[in-house]
Amino acid sequence: MAKVFRNIPSVSELLETPALKHLVDRVHHSTIVTGVRSLLDDLRSEVQNAAAEISIPSPAELSEQIAAKIMRNNRPKLRTALNATGILLHTGLGRAPLSEEAVAAVAEIARGYASVELDLGTGQRSHRTDAVAPLLCTLTGAESAIVVNNNAAATVLTLAAIAQGREVVVSRGQLVEIGGSFRLPDVMEQSGAVMREVGTTNKTRIADFRDAITPDTGALLRVHTSNYRVIGFTEQPTLAELVALGKLRNVPVLDDVGSGALINLAKYGFQDEPLIANSISAGAAVVLFSGDKLVGGPQCGIIVGKKKWIKRLSTHPLMRAFRVDKMTLAALHATLTILAGSAEQAEQRLPLLTLLSTPLDNLKNRAERIAAQISSAKQVANAEAQASTAYLGGGAVPTEGIDSWCVSIEPAGLSLAQLTRQLRERTPAIVGRVQQDRLLLDLRTVPPAGDRCLVEAFVGSQDS
Ligand SMILES: *Cc1c(COP(=O)(O)O)cnc(C)c1O
Repeated sequence: MAKVFRNIPSVSELLETPALKHLVDRVHHSTIVTGVRSLLDDLRSEVQNAAAEISIPSPAELSEQIAAKIMRNNRPKLRTALNATGILLHTGLGRAPLSEEAVAAVAEIARGYASVELDLGTGQRSHRTDAVAPLLCTLTGAESAIVVNNNAAATVLTLAAIAQGREVVVSRGQLVEIGGSFRLPDVMEQSGAVMREVGTTNKTRIADFRDAITPDTGALLRVHTSNYRVIGFTEQPTLAELVALGKLRNVPVLDDVGSGALINLAKYGFQDEPLIANSISAGAAVVLFSGDKLVGGPQCGIIVGKKKWIKRLSTHPLMRAFRVDKMTLAALHATLTILAGSAEQAEQRLPLLTLLSTPLDNLKNRAERIAAQISSAKQVANAEAQASTAYLGGGAVPTEGIDSWCVSIEPAGLSLAQLTRQLRERTPAIVGRVQQDRLLLDLRTVPPAGDRCLVEAFVGSQDS
Protein backbone atom coordinates (compact mmCIF):
# COMPACT_ATOMS: atom_id res chain seq x y z
CA MET A 1 0.00 0.00 0.00
CA ALA A 2 2.73 2.48 0.98
CA LYS A 3 4.34 1.80 -2.35
CA VAL A 4 1.12 2.68 -4.19
CA PHE A 5 0.82 5.96 -2.28
CA ARG A 6 4.32 6.81 -3.37
CA ASN A 7 3.14 6.42 -6.99
CA ILE A 8 0.59 9.21 -6.61
CA PRO A 9 2.07 12.32 -8.20
CA SER A 10 2.39 15.57 -6.24
CA VAL A 11 0.35 18.70 -6.88
CA SER A 12 3.36 20.55 -8.30
CA GLU A 13 4.23 17.61 -10.56
CA LEU A 14 0.73 17.63 -12.06
CA LEU A 15 0.71 21.40 -12.46
CA GLU A 16 3.77 21.03 -14.72
CA THR A 17 2.01 18.67 -17.15
CA PRO A 18 1.13 20.13 -20.58
CA ALA A 19 -2.62 19.53 -20.16
CA LEU A 20 -2.80 21.73 -17.07
CA LYS A 21 -0.21 24.28 -18.20
CA HIS A 22 -2.42 24.92 -21.23
CA LEU A 23 -5.33 25.80 -18.99
CA VAL A 24 -3.57 28.74 -17.36
CA ASP A 25 -4.55 31.04 -20.22
CA ARG A 26 -8.23 30.31 -19.77
CA VAL A 27 -8.80 29.42 -16.12
CA HIS A 28 -7.78 31.06 -12.84
CA HIS A 29 -4.71 29.42 -11.22
CA SER A 30 -6.59 28.71 -7.97
CA THR A 31 -9.32 26.82 -9.88
CA ILE A 32 -6.66 24.51 -11.35
CA VAL A 33 -4.96 23.91 -7.99
CA THR A 34 -8.32 23.14 -6.36
CA GLY A 35 -9.13 20.74 -9.19
CA VAL A 36 -5.80 18.94 -8.78
CA ARG A 37 -6.15 18.69 -4.99
CA SER A 38 -9.66 17.33 -5.17
CA LEU A 39 -8.68 14.64 -7.68
CA LEU A 40 -5.65 13.61 -5.61
CA ASP A 41 -7.85 13.42 -2.48
CA ASP A 42 -10.27 11.16 -4.32
CA LEU A 43 -7.40 9.01 -5.54
CA ARG A 44 -5.92 8.61 -2.05
CA SER A 45 -9.19 7.54 -0.51
CA GLU A 46 -9.70 5.14 -3.41
CA VAL A 47 -6.31 3.55 -2.70
CA GLN A 48 -7.05 3.46 1.02
CA ASN A 49 -10.42 1.76 0.58
CA ALA A 50 -9.45 -0.64 -2.18
CA ALA A 51 -9.31 -4.31 -1.23
CA ALA A 52 -6.51 -5.04 -3.66
CA GLU A 53 -3.69 -2.92 -4.93
CA ILE A 54 -4.88 -0.59 -7.69
CA SER A 55 -2.79 0.90 -10.40
CA ILE A 56 -2.36 4.67 -10.50
CA PRO A 57 -2.83 6.37 -13.86
CA SER A 58 0.17 8.26 -15.21
CA PRO A 59 0.51 12.00 -14.41
CA ALA A 60 -0.36 12.75 -18.04
CA GLU A 61 -3.57 10.72 -17.82
CA LEU A 62 -4.50 12.24 -14.48
CA SER A 63 -3.98 15.78 -15.69
CA GLU A 64 -6.10 15.08 -18.79
CA GLN A 65 -8.91 13.96 -16.49
CA ILE A 66 -8.52 17.02 -14.29
CA ALA A 67 -8.41 19.38 -17.26
CA ALA A 68 -11.56 17.85 -18.76
CA LYS A 69 -13.39 18.17 -15.46
CA ILE A 70 -12.29 21.76 -14.94
CA MET A 71 -13.38 22.72 -18.44
CA ARG A 72 -16.75 21.04 -17.88
CA ASN A 73 -17.31 22.89 -14.58
CA ASN A 74 -16.06 26.10 -16.11
CA ARG A 75 -18.62 26.30 -18.86
CA PRO A 76 -20.72 29.46 -18.56
CA LYS A 77 -23.95 29.04 -16.65
CA LEU A 78 -25.65 31.16 -19.29
CA ARG A 79 -25.67 28.99 -22.40
CA THR A 80 -27.68 28.84 -25.59
CA ALA A 81 -30.69 26.57 -25.57
CA LEU A 82 -33.02 24.84 -27.99
CA ASN A 83 -36.50 25.52 -26.73
CA ALA A 84 -38.51 22.35 -27.33
CA THR A 85 -41.05 23.15 -24.61
CA GLY A 86 -43.67 24.46 -27.02
CA ILE A 87 -43.88 27.65 -24.95
CA LEU A 88 -42.97 30.46 -27.32
CA LEU A 89 -42.31 33.22 -24.78
CA HIS A 90 -40.71 31.05 -22.10
CA THR A 91 -39.43 33.46 -19.45
CA GLY A 92 -36.92 30.90 -18.16
CA LEU A 93 -35.48 30.64 -21.67
CA GLY A 94 -35.29 34.38 -22.30
CA ARG A 95 -38.66 34.98 -24.02
CA ALA A 96 -38.59 36.18 -27.63
CA PRO A 97 -35.59 35.20 -29.77
CA LEU A 98 -34.24 38.19 -31.69
CA SER A 99 -34.30 38.70 -35.45
CA GLU A 100 -31.05 38.51 -37.42
CA GLU A 101 -31.39 42.26 -38.01
CA ALA A 102 -31.59 42.92 -34.26
CA VAL A 103 -28.63 40.63 -33.57
CA ALA A 104 -26.52 42.42 -36.18
CA ALA A 105 -27.53 45.83 -34.82
CA VAL A 106 -26.56 44.80 -31.28
CA ALA A 107 -23.17 43.49 -32.41
CA GLU A 108 -22.39 46.63 -34.36
CA ILE A 109 -23.42 49.05 -31.62
CA ALA A 110 -21.77 46.99 -28.85
CA ARG A 111 -18.38 46.95 -30.55
CA GLY A 112 -17.60 50.66 -30.28
CA TYR A 113 -18.92 53.99 -29.09
CA ALA A 114 -22.36 55.16 -30.14
CA SER A 115 -24.59 58.24 -30.05
CA VAL A 116 -26.47 57.00 -27.00
CA GLU A 117 -27.20 60.43 -25.54
CA LEU A 118 -25.84 62.69 -28.24
CA ASP A 119 -28.03 64.38 -30.83
CA LEU A 120 -25.87 64.11 -33.93
CA GLY A 121 -27.72 66.97 -35.65
CA THR A 122 -27.23 69.61 -32.97
CA GLY A 123 -24.33 68.17 -31.03
CA GLN A 124 -26.43 68.64 -27.91
CA ARG A 125 -27.23 66.06 -25.28
CA SER A 126 -30.30 63.99 -26.15
CA HIS A 127 -32.53 61.56 -24.29
CA ARG A 128 -31.40 58.00 -24.94
CA THR A 129 -34.79 56.65 -25.88
CA ASP A 130 -35.22 59.33 -28.57
CA ALA A 131 -33.66 56.74 -30.85
CA VAL A 132 -36.77 54.54 -30.76
CA ALA A 133 -39.52 57.01 -29.83
CA PRO A 134 -40.48 58.05 -33.39
CA LEU A 135 -40.97 54.42 -34.47
CA LEU A 136 -43.00 53.67 -31.36
CA CYS A 137 -45.19 56.70 -32.07
CA THR A 138 -45.67 55.65 -35.69
CA LEU A 139 -46.62 52.11 -34.72
CA THR A 140 -49.05 53.09 -31.94
CA GLY A 141 -50.31 56.54 -32.87
CA ALA A 142 -49.01 57.88 -29.54
CA GLU A 143 -47.64 61.41 -29.07
CA SER A 144 -44.59 60.33 -27.15
CA ALA A 145 -42.70 57.24 -25.92
CA ILE A 146 -39.95 56.08 -23.57
CA VAL A 147 -38.31 52.76 -22.81
CA VAL A 148 -37.20 51.25 -19.49
CA ASN A 149 -35.76 47.89 -18.39
CA ASN A 150 -38.97 45.86 -18.33
CA ASN A 151 -42.68 46.26 -17.85
CA ALA A 152 -42.37 45.86 -14.08
CA ALA A 153 -40.09 48.91 -14.06
CA ALA A 154 -42.52 50.71 -16.38
CA THR A 155 -45.31 50.09 -13.88
CA VAL A 156 -43.32 51.31 -10.86
CA LEU A 157 -42.09 54.40 -12.73
CA THR A 158 -45.56 55.29 -14.02
CA LEU A 159 -47.26 54.91 -10.64
CA ALA A 160 -44.47 56.76 -8.82
CA ALA A 161 -44.35 59.65 -11.27
CA ILE A 162 -48.09 60.08 -11.69
CA ALA A 163 -49.68 58.97 -8.43
CA GLN A 164 -47.14 58.91 -5.58
CA GLY A 165 -48.92 59.55 -2.27
CA ARG A 166 -52.29 59.49 -4.02
CA GLU A 167 -54.91 56.86 -4.70
CA VAL A 168 -54.94 54.66 -7.78
CA VAL A 169 -58.31 53.08 -8.46
CA VAL A 170 -58.14 49.53 -9.83
CA SER A 171 -60.63 46.70 -10.27
CA ARG A 172 -60.40 43.74 -7.86
CA GLY A 173 -60.54 41.46 -10.88
CA GLN A 174 -57.26 42.87 -12.21
CA LEU A 175 -54.90 42.59 -9.23
CA VAL A 176 -52.58 40.31 -11.17
CA GLU A 177 -49.54 38.27 -10.24
CA ILE A 178 -47.10 37.70 -13.09
CA GLY A 179 -44.46 35.00 -12.76
CA GLY A 180 -44.41 34.92 -8.96
CA SER A 181 -42.37 38.03 -8.22
CA PHE A 182 -44.63 40.63 -9.81
CA ARG A 183 -47.76 41.17 -7.74
CA LEU A 184 -49.60 44.34 -8.57
CA PRO A 185 -50.45 45.27 -4.93
CA ASP A 186 -46.75 44.93 -3.96
CA VAL A 187 -45.57 46.91 -6.97
CA MET A 188 -48.12 49.60 -6.19
CA GLU A 189 -46.84 49.80 -2.60
CA GLN A 190 -43.23 50.15 -3.75
CA SER A 191 -44.21 53.02 -6.03
CA GLY A 192 -45.69 54.98 -3.15
CA ALA A 193 -49.17 55.03 -4.68
CA VAL A 194 -52.12 53.94 -2.57
CA MET A 195 -54.19 51.14 -4.03
CA ARG A 196 -57.92 51.70 -4.02
CA GLU A 197 -59.62 48.42 -5.02
CA VAL A 198 -63.13 48.57 -6.37
CA GLY A 199 -65.73 46.04 -7.51
CA THR A 200 -65.48 42.29 -7.01
CA THR A 201 -63.34 39.54 -8.51
CA ASN A 202 -65.76 38.89 -11.35
CA LYS A 203 -67.74 42.13 -11.70
CA THR A 204 -66.61 45.73 -11.66
CA ARG A 205 -68.76 48.49 -13.13
CA ILE A 206 -67.86 51.98 -14.25
CA ALA A 207 -70.03 53.23 -11.36
CA ASP A 208 -67.61 51.54 -8.93
CA PHE A 209 -64.81 53.66 -10.36
CA ARG A 210 -66.97 56.78 -10.33
CA ASP A 211 -67.89 56.33 -6.67
CA ALA A 212 -64.25 55.82 -5.68
CA ILE A 213 -62.91 59.06 -7.15
CA THR A 214 -62.06 61.70 -4.54
CA PRO A 215 -59.73 64.73 -4.53
CA ASP A 216 -57.02 62.21 -3.49
CA THR A 217 -57.33 60.15 -6.67
CA GLY A 218 -54.14 60.21 -8.75
CA ALA A 219 -55.10 57.82 -11.54
CA LEU A 220 -57.43 55.11 -12.78
CA LEU A 221 -55.58 51.91 -13.67
CA ARG A 222 -56.57 49.14 -16.02
CA VAL A 223 -54.46 45.96 -16.06
CA HIS A 224 -54.68 43.35 -18.79
CA THR A 225 -55.25 40.00 -17.05
CA SER A 226 -52.70 38.48 -19.35
CA ASN A 227 -52.06 35.12 -17.70
CA TYR A 228 -55.58 34.24 -16.57
CA ARG A 229 -59.16 34.80 -17.57
CA VAL A 230 -62.22 35.42 -15.41
CA ILE A 231 -65.00 33.75 -17.36
CA GLY A 232 -68.74 33.36 -16.84
CA PHE A 233 -70.69 36.08 -15.01
CA THR A 234 -68.20 38.90 -15.51
CA GLU A 235 -68.01 42.59 -16.24
CA GLN A 236 -65.24 45.16 -16.53
CA PRO A 237 -65.57 48.72 -17.76
CA THR A 238 -64.06 49.32 -21.19
CA LEU A 239 -61.02 51.54 -21.56
CA ALA A 240 -63.19 54.08 -23.40
CA GLU A 241 -65.58 54.25 -20.43
CA LEU A 242 -62.68 54.76 -18.04
CA VAL A 243 -61.23 57.48 -20.26
CA ALA A 244 -64.60 59.29 -20.45
CA LEU A 245 -64.88 59.17 -16.66
CA GLY A 246 -61.28 60.28 -16.22
CA LYS A 247 -61.83 63.23 -18.53
CA LEU A 248 -64.91 64.30 -16.59
CA ARG A 249 -63.08 64.19 -13.26
CA ASN A 250 -59.66 65.24 -14.56
CA VAL A 251 -57.89 61.96 -13.67
CA PRO A 252 -55.46 60.20 -16.06
CA VAL A 253 -56.09 56.59 -17.11
CA LEU A 254 -53.12 54.20 -17.09
CA ASP A 255 -53.30 51.01 -19.17
CA ASP A 256 -50.94 48.15 -18.28
CA VAL A 257 -51.33 45.93 -21.30
CA GLY A 258 -48.48 43.56 -20.37
CA SER A 259 -48.04 41.46 -23.46
CA GLY A 260 -49.70 43.81 -25.95
CA ALA A 261 -49.05 43.63 -29.66
CA LEU A 262 -47.91 46.30 -32.08
CA ILE A 263 -49.40 44.55 -35.11
CA ASN A 264 -52.62 42.60 -35.42
CA LEU A 265 -52.10 38.94 -34.51
CA ALA A 266 -55.63 37.76 -35.30
CA LYS A 267 -54.33 35.67 -38.22
CA TYR A 268 -52.30 33.63 -35.72
CA GLY A 269 -55.43 32.99 -33.66
CA PHE A 270 -55.01 35.70 -31.03
CA GLN A 271 -58.10 37.85 -31.45
CA ASP A 272 -58.13 38.88 -27.81
CA GLU A 273 -54.63 40.29 -27.51
CA PRO A 274 -54.89 44.04 -27.05
CA LEU A 275 -53.40 46.21 -29.77
CA ILE A 276 -51.43 49.09 -28.29
CA ALA A 277 -52.81 51.43 -30.97
CA ASN A 278 -56.36 50.72 -29.71
CA SER A 279 -55.45 51.80 -26.18
CA ILE A 280 -53.95 54.99 -27.54
CA SER A 281 -56.94 55.81 -29.72
CA ALA A 282 -59.25 55.08 -26.77
CA GLY A 283 -57.46 57.94 -25.02
CA ALA A 284 -55.29 56.33 -22.31
CA ALA A 285 -52.79 58.77 -20.75
CA VAL A 286 -50.07 56.13 -20.85
CA VAL A 287 -49.94 52.52 -22.07
CA LEU A 288 -47.32 50.05 -20.74
CA PHE A 289 -46.14 46.79 -22.28
CA SER A 290 -43.14 44.45 -22.52
CA GLY A 291 -40.67 44.50 -25.40
CA ASP A 292 -39.93 40.77 -25.21
CA LYS A 293 -43.44 39.36 -25.32
CA LEU A 294 -45.64 39.79 -28.39
CA VAL A 295 -43.44 42.60 -29.73
CA GLY A 296 -40.79 39.92 -30.31
CA GLY A 297 -37.86 42.12 -29.29
CA PRO A 298 -35.36 42.49 -26.43
CA GLN A 299 -36.27 42.64 -22.75
CA CYS A 300 -37.58 46.13 -22.01
CA GLY A 301 -40.66 47.99 -20.86
CA ILE A 302 -42.24 50.33 -23.37
CA ILE A 303 -44.36 53.30 -22.30
CA VAL A 304 -46.32 55.27 -24.89
CA GLY A 305 -48.87 58.01 -24.40
CA LYS A 306 -49.59 61.70 -24.04
CA LYS A 307 -46.66 64.12 -24.18
CA LYS A 308 -47.41 65.71 -20.83
CA TRP A 309 -47.34 62.40 -18.94
CA ILE A 310 -44.40 60.84 -20.78
CA LYS A 311 -42.41 64.01 -20.08
CA ARG A 312 -43.21 63.67 -16.39
CA LEU A 313 -41.98 60.03 -16.44
CA SER A 314 -38.80 60.78 -18.35
CA THR A 315 -37.70 63.42 -15.85
CA HIS A 316 -38.47 61.33 -12.73
CA PRO A 317 -35.38 60.17 -10.76
CA LEU A 318 -36.41 56.50 -11.13
CA MET A 319 -35.96 56.84 -14.91
CA ARG A 320 -32.22 56.91 -14.27
CA ALA A 321 -32.40 53.67 -12.31
CA PHE A 322 -34.51 51.93 -14.95
CA ARG A 323 -32.74 53.14 -18.07
CA VAL A 324 -31.84 50.72 -20.85
CA ASP A 325 -28.43 50.23 -22.40
CA LYS A 326 -27.36 50.84 -26.00
CA MET A 327 -27.68 47.15 -26.95
CA THR A 328 -31.32 47.04 -25.91
CA LEU A 329 -32.00 50.22 -27.86
CA ALA A 330 -30.27 48.83 -30.96
CA ALA A 331 -32.21 45.54 -30.77
CA LEU A 332 -35.50 47.32 -30.17
CA HIS A 333 -34.95 49.73 -33.04
CA ALA A 334 -34.25 46.86 -35.44
CA THR A 335 -37.33 44.97 -34.20
CA LEU A 336 -39.60 48.01 -34.54
CA THR A 337 -38.26 48.67 -38.04
CA ILE A 338 -39.35 45.18 -39.05
CA LEU A 339 -42.79 45.65 -37.47
CA ALA A 340 -43.23 48.93 -39.33
CA GLY A 341 -42.75 47.12 -42.66
CA SER A 342 -45.11 44.70 -44.40
CA ALA A 343 -46.78 41.85 -42.54
CA GLU A 344 -45.13 39.31 -44.88
CA GLN A 345 -41.67 40.70 -44.17
CA ALA A 346 -42.35 40.71 -40.45
CA GLU A 347 -43.42 37.06 -40.58
CA GLN A 348 -40.19 36.07 -42.33
CA ARG A 349 -37.86 38.14 -40.21
CA LEU A 350 -39.23 38.07 -36.65
CA PRO A 351 -38.56 34.63 -35.16
CA LEU A 352 -41.68 34.77 -32.95
CA LEU A 353 -43.90 35.29 -36.00
CA THR A 354 -41.95 32.78 -38.09
CA LEU A 355 -42.48 30.11 -35.43
CA LEU A 356 -46.16 31.02 -35.02
CA SER A 357 -46.79 30.86 -38.76
CA THR A 358 -44.98 27.57 -39.49
CA PRO A 359 -47.58 25.32 -41.18
CA LEU A 360 -48.71 22.32 -39.17
CA ASP A 361 -47.68 19.99 -42.03
CA ASN A 362 -44.11 21.21 -41.74
CA LEU A 363 -44.06 20.43 -38.01
CA LYS A 364 -45.64 17.02 -38.59
CA ASN A 365 -43.13 16.04 -41.28
CA ARG A 366 -40.20 17.12 -39.16
CA ALA A 367 -41.53 15.31 -36.08
CA GLU A 368 -41.92 12.11 -38.11
CA ARG A 369 -38.43 12.41 -39.56
CA ILE A 370 -36.81 13.06 -36.18
CA ALA A 371 -38.75 10.23 -34.53
CA ALA A 372 -37.58 7.81 -37.23
CA GLN A 373 -33.97 8.95 -36.91
CA ILE A 374 -33.73 8.61 -33.14
CA SER A 375 -35.90 5.55 -32.54
CA SER A 376 -32.91 3.21 -32.88
CA ALA A 377 -30.79 5.18 -30.40
CA LYS A 378 -29.58 3.38 -27.30
CA GLN A 379 -31.45 5.65 -24.87
CA VAL A 380 -34.73 5.44 -26.73
CA ALA A 381 -37.27 2.68 -26.12
CA ASN A 382 -39.81 4.32 -28.34
CA ALA A 383 -40.09 7.61 -30.27
CA GLU A 384 -43.08 8.75 -32.24
CA ALA A 385 -44.52 11.88 -33.81
CA GLN A 386 -47.57 13.11 -31.99
CA ALA A 387 -49.96 16.05 -32.29
CA SER A 388 -49.56 18.50 -29.41
CA THR A 389 -50.55 21.91 -28.11
CA ALA A 390 -48.11 24.81 -27.80
CA TYR A 391 -48.66 28.03 -25.87
CA LEU A 392 -47.53 31.63 -26.11
CA GLY A 393 -46.53 31.78 -22.42
CA GLY A 394 -44.75 34.75 -20.85
CA GLY A 395 -48.03 35.86 -19.38
CA ALA A 396 -49.85 36.03 -22.69
CA VAL A 397 -53.08 34.37 -23.85
CA PRO A 398 -53.53 31.73 -21.15
CA THR A 399 -56.45 29.88 -22.65
CA GLU A 400 -55.67 29.63 -26.33
CA GLY A 401 -53.50 26.71 -27.35
CA ILE A 402 -51.59 26.66 -30.63
CA ASP A 403 -51.71 23.49 -32.74
CA SER A 404 -48.36 21.78 -32.93
CA TRP A 405 -46.48 18.49 -33.38
CA CYS A 406 -43.91 16.95 -31.11
CA VAL A 407 -41.59 13.97 -30.88
CA SER A 408 -42.74 11.88 -27.93
CA ILE A 409 -39.95 9.80 -26.38
CA GLU A 410 -39.91 6.93 -23.92
CA PRO A 411 -36.36 6.43 -22.60
CA ALA A 412 -34.53 3.10 -22.42
CA GLY A 413 -31.91 2.22 -19.80
CA LEU A 414 -32.19 5.53 -17.98
CA SER A 415 -34.91 7.45 -16.19
CA LEU A 416 -36.80 10.33 -17.69
CA ALA A 417 -35.07 12.65 -15.17
CA GLN A 418 -31.65 11.34 -16.30
CA LEU A 419 -32.51 11.83 -19.95
CA THR A 420 -33.82 15.37 -19.50
CA ARG A 421 -30.71 16.23 -17.50
CA GLN A 422 -28.42 14.82 -20.18
CA LEU A 423 -30.17 16.94 -22.79
CA ARG A 424 -29.92 20.06 -20.63
CA GLU A 425 -26.18 19.48 -20.16
CA ARG A 426 -25.54 19.72 -23.90
CA THR A 427 -24.55 22.89 -25.76
CA PRO A 428 -26.95 24.20 -26.87
CA ALA A 429 -29.00 22.90 -23.96
CA ILE A 430 -32.11 21.04 -25.11
CA VAL A 431 -35.18 21.74 -23.01
CA GLY A 432 -38.34 19.73 -23.64
CA ARG A 433 -41.47 19.06 -21.64
CA VAL A 434 -42.29 15.99 -19.57
CA GLN A 435 -45.80 14.67 -19.84
CA GLN A 436 -47.12 11.37 -18.55
CA ASP A 437 -43.82 9.46 -18.39
CA ARG A 438 -42.66 10.68 -21.78
CA LEU A 439 -40.39 13.44 -22.96
CA LEU A 440 -42.02 15.68 -25.53
CA LEU A 441 -39.91 17.74 -27.90
CA ASP A 442 -42.35 20.28 -29.31
CA LEU A 443 -41.35 21.60 -32.72
CA ARG A 444 -43.53 24.77 -32.65
CA THR A 445 -40.67 26.48 -30.78
CA VAL A 446 -37.77 24.85 -32.68
CA PRO A 447 -36.50 26.49 -35.87
CA PRO A 448 -35.86 23.88 -38.62
CA ALA A 449 -32.10 24.46 -38.21
CA GLY A 450 -32.41 22.98 -34.71
CA ASP A 451 -33.68 19.57 -35.87
CA ARG A 452 -30.20 18.22 -36.52
CA CYS A 453 -29.13 19.16 -33.04
CA LEU A 454 -32.09 17.26 -31.58
CA VAL A 455 -31.19 14.15 -33.57
CA GLU A 456 -27.50 14.36 -32.70
CA ALA A 457 -28.32 14.52 -29.01
CA PHE A 458 -29.57 10.95 -29.31
CA VAL A 459 -27.69 9.43 -32.19
CA GLY A 460 -24.39 11.17 -31.48
CA SER A 461 -24.28 9.98 -27.89
CA GLN A 462 -24.92 6.32 -28.72
CA ASP A 463 -21.32 5.35 -28.11
CA SER A 464 -20.62 7.57 -25.13
C1 LIG B 1 -45.65 40.37 -18.23
C2 LIG B 1 -46.43 41.42 -17.54
C3 LIG B 1 -45.80 42.30 -16.65
C4 LIG B 1 -44.33 42.18 -16.35
O1 LIG B 1 -43.59 42.52 -17.47
P1 LIG B 1 -41.99 42.26 -17.49
O2 LIG B 1 -41.57 42.85 -18.79
O3 LIG B 1 -41.80 40.80 -17.38
O4 LIG B 1 -41.42 43.00 -16.32
C5 LIG B 1 -46.57 43.27 -16.04
N1 LIG B 1 -47.90 43.39 -16.25
C6 LIG B 1 -48.55 42.55 -17.11
C7 LIG B 1 -50.02 42.71 -17.32
C8 LIG B 1 -47.83 41.55 -17.79
O5 LIG B 1 -48.45 40.72 -18.62
